[in-house]
This record gives sequence, structure tokens and C-alpha cells, in this order.
Amino acid sequence: MKKDELVNPNFDKLGYIQIYTGNGKGKTTASLGLALRALGRGWKVLIVLFTKGGSDYGELFAFREFSPKIKKHIKIIQAGLDRIVYSNNINTKDKEVVRKGWEEAQKAAASHEYQLIILDEANIAIDLNLISVEEMKNFLINKPKELEIVLTGRRANPEIIELAHLVSNIEPIKHYWDIGVQARKGIEY
Ligand code: ATP
Ligand code: MG
Repeated sequence: MKKDELVNPNFDKLGYIQIYTGNGKGKTTASLGLALRALGRGWKVLIVLFTKGGSDYGELFAFREFSPKIKKHIKIIQAGLDRIVYSNNINTKDKEVVRKGWEEAQKAAASHEYQLIILDEANIAIDLNLISVEEMKNFLINKPKELEIVLTGRRANPEIIELAHLVSNIEPIKHYWDIGVQARKGIEY
């Protein structure tokens, strides 16, 4: 078979499912880079930040300063409380806020208004059973054909990996946590 025969004739009219997972640094920032690139092409972008509350994120400050023209194209939904959730400290408030963000994401997809939807830390929300695997699978299978969806976060679910078209597993060859460097403004948040 010639190389050209491998090219899907509709590849640029379709949206794909991408996953950024693994224990290395670069999952959320990869998705933010994609958002920036898509906005530069005039796409409409939705970012849902699961398990992230509070406002002390550099990206939120950056988006706020965008030109009115670009700002019109981006919506950010925070679907988390201002603390880190683990399997042993989840409460009903966490569940409610994730559920609300998840419902908004589904509505946004169904509206056909967006070309890119980023579900940041959705892998974690699934891992903590705040979003069920079945619901996510259903959402991904039935997404509008032209919509690109990005899921980030550690411990991506194998059934979701199965459905995705692109999966990057970011592994830390080195990480400065190991020499005592904690999260820094401008670099990690
Ligand atoms: P980035 O947002 O820089 O792309 P990421 O999305 O790949 O990173 P996450 O797994 O989402 O990384 O981690 C989010 C944040 O949690 C990190 O920026 C850091 O502040 C904190 N964190 C993650 N792993 C550790 C660790 N081993 N020790 C200390 N803090 C950590
Ligand atoms: Mg992240």
C-alpha cells in the first residue's frame, strides 16, 4: 500500500479524543497549549477544570487578559473545591461541584458551539468515581463528530484509553520534586 492510501480522506473534518496521562509534568500544560493554538485559529474552546477550585492559577489570569475578540471564544468552568481531593477525603460538596461541571460539559458538547473541549483532570475524576466510566464512555462515543475532546490527569482508565485516538503517557525521567522543589507560581500554577 502506498503511503497516501493510509490518509483518511476526512481526517481534518473530524474531531478526535486525546488523553494526556502519566506521572510526569506536562499534562495540563499540554492541554493549555492546545487551547491557545485552537484559539489562534478562531475555534471556540471550553475548559472544565475538574477537582480544581480557587482562582490562583496563572492560566486563569492569562485568559482574563485576552483581547475581547479571543475572550469571546473561551469559556472556563471550575468544577472543584479549593483543596486537593483524595479517595479518602471526598465529600458530597466535591461530588456536587464535579457533577455540575460535568453536566455543563455535556451541554456544551451537545450545543455544537465548541470545536475543542478540555476536561482537565477528568482522569482523576473518573478514578475517584466522581464521574462514572460508563457515563464518560457514553459521552465520548456520542460526541459530535467534529468536536475534539482532551482528557488530562494521572491514572487514565483503560476503557477510556481504548476509546481514545491519541494517548500520551508522560513519564518523569527526572522531576524536581525529588530535590525538594515545590509547586511554583508561573510554572506549576
Ligand atoms: P502541569 O500542570 O505542570 O502540566 P500536570 O498536569 O502534568 O502538570 P498534575 O499531575 O496535574 O501535573 O499535578 C498537578 C500539581 O500537583 C503539580 O503542578 C504539583 O503542584 C502537584 N504535584 C503533583 N505531583 C506531585 C508530587 N509528587 N509532589 C508534590 N507535588 C506534586
Ligand atoms: Mg494537571
